[in-house]
This record gives sequence, structure tokens and C-alpha cells, in this order.
Amino acid sequence: MVAEEGKSVREVGDGPGLVQVYTGDGKGKTTAALGLALRAVGHGYRVLIVQFMKTGEPYGESRSFHHLPGLELRSFARSCLINADHPEPEDFRFAEEALQFVKERTMSKEYDVVILDEVSIAVKWGLIDPKRVVDMVKERPQGVEMILTGRYAPQEFLDMADLITEMLNVRHPYQNGVLSRQGIDR
Ligand code: ATP
Ligand code: MG
Repeated sequence: MVAEEGKSVREVGDGPGLVQVYTGDGKGKTTAALGLALRAVGHGYRVLIVQFMKTGEPYGESRSFHHLPGLELRSFARSCLINADHPEPEDFRFAEEALQFVKERTMSKEYDVVILDEVSIAVKWGLIDPKRVVDMVKERPQGVEMILTGRYAPQEFLDMADLITEMLNVRHPYQNGVLSRQGIDR
């Protein structure tokens, strides 16, 4: 993906309301979204994080974020280890449930920032139709910032985004046999 010249965004004033996409093969997509959540609650914004394809329980954020008022985190998955080639019916059900949950809660106007963590992976693995996500994002109440994370963001997400960041993997300890580290990678 090549950097683009600044694209015009609709008038949002000094507050949330845009669409952001974090994608690419380098580390930092989910943690960038979590960092933004931390920043937003510091200014009194209400933040919803919905994790697709994650059970929540192995991740540090599902522990620490419970302590933060104004921030809600919900995870929808049978397991964090879904077989990409052969998802189970339950994987489709969880993805559907996650999408419905985001939709209801976003439309309720209870949140200023809504993060769909790993939604691009759910699309990539065929669990969700990207057009349904796009429709939901476009129908959101004014002033709601939406952040979509995950490798392989589909073109449909890129087309509607005001901000796109592609994390580039230059080096990762995984390549030297260092596996997922608690508190760092999960
Ligand atoms: P993080 O959650 O640390 O911000 P991420 O959201 O960018 O990472 P994902 O694509 O969601 O990364 O990958 C899930 C897991 O794989 C995370 O534990 C992450 O730290 C790790 N990871 C990220 N990039 C790489 C990479 N290039 N090689 C190996 N593992 C990676
Ligand atoms: Mg991630």
C-alpha cells in the first residue's frame, strides 16, 4: 500500500467521529487501538472494544480495562485458535453475535469510540461479509469514532476509512523462535 495525499474528511470538529483502519503484518494494530482507548477515556469519552476471534481471557487488556470507568471490553469467540481453512459453525455464530452486539451498542449512542478488534481477520476467514460491516459503520450515529483492526483489511474497509495505518513487519522476535509473550503480545 502506498501513502496517499491527505484525503478530505467530513467536518468533525474537535472530537471523535471518523473511521480508522489499522492493518498490515507488523505488530501493533491491537495495541494501537488499546492505546487510543486509554487516551479517549482520559478525556471522558465512552469506549467499547469488541474483540472478534478472541476469547478475552488470555489477554492482559481484558483484565486491566475492567478497572477503567467508561471503557467496556467484550470478546466473542469459541477459541483464540480457529482453523482458518475450516471454521466451525460456532465460529460463524460468534462472529454474527459480535457484529449484532456492536451494531446495537453503537446505535444506542452509549459510546463515543467503538473498536472492532480483528474484524478484518473475521472477514478474511469468511466469517463476516465486509459489506455488512461497512453498512453498520456508515449508519453509525454522528460523532462515533470507529476503529477496525486486523491484518488483510478488505478493500471495502479501506475505501470508507478516513485514516489507514499499515503496520509493516521489519523484524519480529517470532522469526527467531520467540513465541507470544504474556504481557507483551497478549
Ligand atoms: P498486538 O496485539 O501486539 O498489537 P497485532 O494486533 O498487530 O499485535 P495480530 O496480527 O493481531 O497483531 O497478531 C496476533 C499476535 O501475533 C499478537 O500476539 C502479536 O503480538 C503477534 N504478532 C504481531 N505481528 C507479528 C509478526 N509479524 N510475526 C509474528 N507475530 C506477530
Ligand atoms: Mg491484533
